[in-house]
Amino acid sequence: MTDGRATTPSLARVVIAEDEAIVRLDLKEILVSAGYEVVGETGRGDEAVQLVEEHKPDLAILDVKMPGMDGLRAAREITSRHQVVVLLLTAFSQRDLIEEARDSGVAAYLIKPFQSRELLPAITDVLAKARQEWAIEAEQSGGGAEDKIATRRVVDEAKQILMDRDDLPETEAFGFIQRTAMQTRARMRDVAQQVVDGTLTP
Ligand SMILES: [Mg+2]
Repeated sequence: MTDGRATTPSLARVVIAEDEAIVRLDLKEILVSAGYEVVGETGRGDEAVQLVEEHKPDLAILDVKMPGMDGLRAAREITSRHQVVVLLLTAFSQRDLIEEARDSGVAAYLIKPFQSRELLPAITDVLAKARQEWAIEAEQSGGGAEDKIATRRVVDEAKQILMDRDDLPETEAFGFIQRTAMQTRARMRDVAQQVVDGTLTP
């Protein structure tokens, strides 16, 4: 695809919504220097919903308290319509919102003020989990809920074997299953079954 973007692919495309300009700037700098592409930024919740609609990012980082629309409602609107990971930024005094955040489709939250050493691993983690989930959903797009559950179960079992027996980190364990499936034009479910059966090793 030639769309004028940098030739090195970014780790993920991100929309950020935070009404404190200094925090937003800080967030952007941390993300960009870590290799993420910030495709949109705003200090308003309603604009965050529009930016996600427009740019279809992988990740949206939303503050809770913002003008226009609060971050929880924005998260609900965003996750009901798009395949996007939402990370919520909350103040310490808002930790009672955590339950509500889960119900709003929020993948993880960070309490402000956050450090880049907390933010970056949290992002890596939620993106990796979401990408695994999306890959399983894509494979099972023609199937029903039972197929998805069965696939997730065997993929999880295979992942555990690859982690315990072969010492692979979780993302690499999943990567092995996904890559092998692509290379052999097989389903991840069948590749995972071979790992479980002991007929396939990295
Ligand atoms: Mg705020």
